[in-house]
Amino acid sequence: MFKRSIGLAILIAVSLFVFITAAQTLSFESTNIQKTEKKPEPAQPEEIVKKTAPVVYGIPTDTLEIIEGTIERGENLSELLRDYNISPVTIDLLARKAKDVFNVRRINANHNYIILHAQDSAQTARYFIYEPSEVEYVVYDLNGDLDVRLVKREVLVVERAIAGFIESSLFESILAAGGTPQLVNHFADIYAWRLNLSRLQPGDMFKLIYEEKLVNGNTIGFGKIKAAYFEHEGKPLYAIAFEQDGQKTGYYDQDGKSLKKAFLREPLEFSRISSRFSKSRFHPVQKRYKPHLGTDFAAPRGTPIRTVGDGVVLEAAYTRGNGYFVKIKHNKTYTTQYLHMSKFARGIRKGSRVQQGQTIGYVGSTGLATGPHLCYRFWQNGRQVDALRVKLPSAHPIERKYKEAFAALKEEIEGRMVAIEVTGAQPKELLAADKQHATLNDEEV
Ligand SMILES: [Zn+2]
Repeated sequence: MFKRSIGLAILIAVSLFVFITAAQTLSFESTNIQKTEKKPEPAQPEEIVKKTAPVVYGIPTDTLEIIEGTIERGENLSELLRDYNISPVTIDLLARKAKDVFNVRRINANHNYIILHAQDSAQTARYFIYEPSEVEYVVYDLNGDLDVRLVKREVLVVERAIAGFIESSLFESILAAGGTPQLVNHFADIYAWRLNLSRLQPGDMFKLIYEEKLVNGNTIGFGKIKAAYFEHEGKPLYAIAFEQDGQKTGYYDQDGKSLKKAFLREPLEFSRISSRFSKSRFHPVQKRYKPHLGTDFAAPRGTPIRTVGDGVVLEAAYTRGNGYFVKIKHNKTYTTQYLHMSKFARGIRKGSRVQQGQTIGYVGSTGLATGPHLCYRFWQNGRQVDALRVKLPSAHPIERKYKEAFAALKEEIEGRMVAIEVTGAQPKELLAADKQHATLNDEEV
């Protein structure tokens, strides 16, 4: 019964969208701002200053005293309320009543609480309020029947926009425009496949439309980036968030192409290439020249191996040469294989479905191998090719049935991006300083 009314309270959460132009967030603009003289504030008339007791968590405190604190390690409710005339019997009863709303055992260290107690000599506690998170609080009502309720605060989702030019690094430029490291990382993730982020050029321009979550006026985090825009030497590359049936939200460029590739370039996150794809290589174990139709990555034993793309496991087996290996069919054109594993990842067997980036096994030296490494092989239309050189296809584009919806969204986003003004001059002296070109679109290295 109780839960239902809470459910209603949750439903009241409102989302409001506010659009803010980038004007005030641009870094170099600050030098042009005229300082306005602060006028002395007029003295407040006495009667307005007169204190009224605040309403705390919806509770008028006219007759109550407010104690604020933070739960310390190992501290529990009975300890907290012992000094406020609440008996262990009452605590026990309260704990039982609270079970279905917010179990008192879940009261944890480092969270804020408030005790509202009567202004009598016993200082009897009337309410205990605990904040499990920034977005909710629990009111333990110690009056009469002992009531417990969980209240969700309104989370305001505000849409924000920032823009700026790259000066030294993407990180500094986004921060200077009013973003946060979290936002930089998200932006970098979206563009990582199409943009060499270490080679951006001073003068490149970015624009971002994203959601920010607020509780009581305080930022508690970010929602998603709705759209981003990056311009290198006048060449624009949009990233528009769009959701297609049965897929995670993806980012698509202005042509409806996914910003992601269908395959990761490498199956190990951190590694060193120890032997490249070659038609003729001296085999270290067999001591003779033979083609090496794969790429070897040296890495410590046990390093997780990721499948480079979605697919189905064709084989997860052992042979004398390959050791433990996994072969994955991605589609009718592409197949990849991973050799010399120390072991397979949990659940990897013939017929298993795998998703890009999923761990399928661990680096080892089984089969013909001198030391722990991964031999990675890549087939295109039945032919073995160099995985480091092959032009990787884009991930799923916008499907035909979504073409119209995407076109409409794109038009809206384009209009809004144009409206985000990047005031201030492009840093010209920086433009000339470094002429290394960022790589856009498919010209990646
Ligand atoms: Zn190899």
